Amino acid sequence: MGFSTDAIHAGQIPDPTTGAVITPLYLTSTYVQEELGKNKGYEYGRTHNLTRQALEKNIATLEKGKYGIAFSSGLAATHSLMSLLKAGDHVIVSNNVYGGTYRLFEQNLTAFGLQYSWVDTSELKNIESAINKNTKMIFVETPTNPMLILTDLKAVSDIAKKNNLITVCDNTFMSPYFQNPIEWGIDIVLHSTTKYINGHSDAIGGILVMNNDKYHERLRYIQNAAGAIPSPFDCWLVLRATKTLAVRMKQHEENAKAFAKFLFESGLAKKVIYPGLKDHPQHPLAKKQMRGFGGMVSADFGTLEKAKKVLNGVKVFALAESLGGVESLICHPASMTHASVPKAEREKYDFTDALVRFSVGIEDVEDLIDDVENALNK
Ligand code: PLP
Repeated sequence: MGFSTDAIHAGQIPDPTTGAVITPLYLTSTYVQEELGKNKGYEYGRTHNLTRQALEKNIATLEKGKYGIAFSSGLAATHSLMSLLKAGDHVIVSNNVYGGTYRLFEQNLTAFGLQYSWVDTSELKNIESAINKNTKMIFVETPTNPMLILTDLKAVSDIAKKNNLITVCDNTFMSPYFQNPIEWGIDIVLHSTTKYINGHSDAIGGILVMNNDKYHERLRYIQNAAGAIPSPFDCWLVLRATKTLAVRMKQHEENAKAFAKFLFESGLAKKVIYPGLKDHPQHPLAKKQMRGFGGMVSADFGTLEKAKKVLNGVKVFALAESLGGVESLICHPASMTHASVPKAEREKYDFTDALVRFSVGIEDVEDLIDDVENALNK
């Protein structure tokens, strides 16, 4: 089936009682048992919920995976994922991941004996030279937040297979509409469904998608044992949203392309970063492994003063953390999303205080362009 057909139908079971077309919202914490030891496959809400199962099947299908395991946030998904490892294990991570991922790994999980190496995974030789005898996993985000640096997924999966390592890709920025890491050999795909997948800025969630039975068994166990599950209502909202993922992503991209072109040609910013621009150093890789370039645009305005002028002057873009919603958002990654990443670490990959990140929404793009122009001309 095509993406849009799957988005609308995969995992959607008409209500067995009434035939309702829309998957019901099963608000229950427990299920009555027919007799001791006999039930309908549903015992307790943390372990099983039909609305959640429908969502998991739906997103797994869109990500070309067999299994989806939903969590209460993207970070809860990342945290549960780390339960595949044990003290002493070593993970190679893209150096420019979401700031919360950095904080979780570096400031929480190292206390439990996990070791992390932060490398520029866009250079494969960096990955190869970081592998040691304790390495168990390669965790990449591509494109990264907020520098939009790409990593070659097929090449990473080849390196991992040779060294018997688990590969994970945070695919939040592309959504399954533009990129399916499993098709390039990646083992586990991670999403903050809070972003494009839900797309309406009204629910926090995360999901892991995979084909491997062993990882699925362990992570399904962790989902229940650690209990970071999403509420049935949030699952229902996200399931409602995936139906329009294709149309939203097409519009996000059309707007982002026009917006990036305007910023680039106007000379208003010192540097414009968008994988769809021909001057993006990895534009050819973007064309190879993605089916589009997404809706995120970053720009370095040269000075913090000029960046502030944009951030404080816009009226249509809302100054807020997060991304991927239908409404356009603007943020200052250095002080907002990535405040926990040390400045010295950030500057290694040109992530300056003058960087502004735009999550280009699906409004009329002329209004978004005028908004930035007006902010700078004030
Ligand atoms: N991954 C990426 C790329 C993100 O941008 C975020 C949040 O901004 C997360 C993971 C964490 O997701 P959540 O906020 O749903 O916990």
